[in-house]
Amino acid sequence: MTNIVDHLRKWGLVVETKAGYENRGRPYAFKPRGVLCHHTASGSSSGNFGSETTVTNGRPGLPGPLCQFLLGRDGTVKVIALGYANHAGYGGPHAGIPENQGNTYLYGIEAENNGLGERWSEAELNAYYRLCAALLDYMGISDVNRVFGHKEWTSRKIDPAGINMDQFRAEVAKALKAGPSVKTVRLSRLGQGKNNLDVKRVKHRLRKKGFYKGAINKRWTKEVTKAYAEYQRSLGYKGDNADGVPGKTSLQKLGFNVVA
Ligand SMILES: [Zn+2]
Repeated sequence: MTNIVDHLRKWGLVVETKAGYENRGRPYAFKPRGVLCHHTASGSSSGNFGSETTVTNGRPGLPGPLCQFLLGRDGTVKVIALGYANHAGYGGPHAGIPENQGNTYLYGIEAENNGLGERWSEAELNAYYRLCAALLDYMGISDVNRVFGHKEWTSRKIDPAGINMDQFRAEVAKALKAGPSVKTVRLSRLGQGKNNLDVKRVKHRLRKKGFYKGAINKRWTKEVTKAYAEYQRSLGYKGDNADGVPGKTSLQKLGFNVVA
């Protein structure tokens, strides 16, 4: 079977790993066949991975790891552990997962959010859907009901707060249907003067759509800005919205997953 980190990257996710993740886990059998979604409850100013230490090492009375995957506020996935983690607690049965056995049968994703009304960034939400879809694909499961929230597993919990899990599953289903071929581009890597693989990807799509006729390489030139502006006008954008500077929506309409 493919390495899970490679698998997630193939799905267009930006993935980092926590040193030792391959062998990290509680000493119990782990047989994932679903995904449980959480929020970390870290302070909104605690940074991209404010909970990294806690979810890795645990807290008094609850030994770590506390999840397999930590999702950053910018949508980056950090793989914490591949083994059994303490995240589900008492609950269920739900969606075929037996009562009180969530830790044995569910991947746990801890997504950074304070759970007190902090706005979820688009980047984090998109990565959340995509990570769930990628994990279902990895397990060979097509039923999106195998993705659910801690608040659906047990009435003791409210996480992930601010997320309607039915809408969430609809987005996971969309991502699963679109499949792994969707490429991720970073907004910060696009525009005049930039020189990287994301530029090449955008040029390729612009040429396929007939807006760009030049060379396909990694350099963003004036011709690319012109071509992008023409593409934006084709979407009905006007004025500053058709200035050739790529934005999230127009990139998504080119078929990309977009992160900041
Ligand atoms: Zn939780």
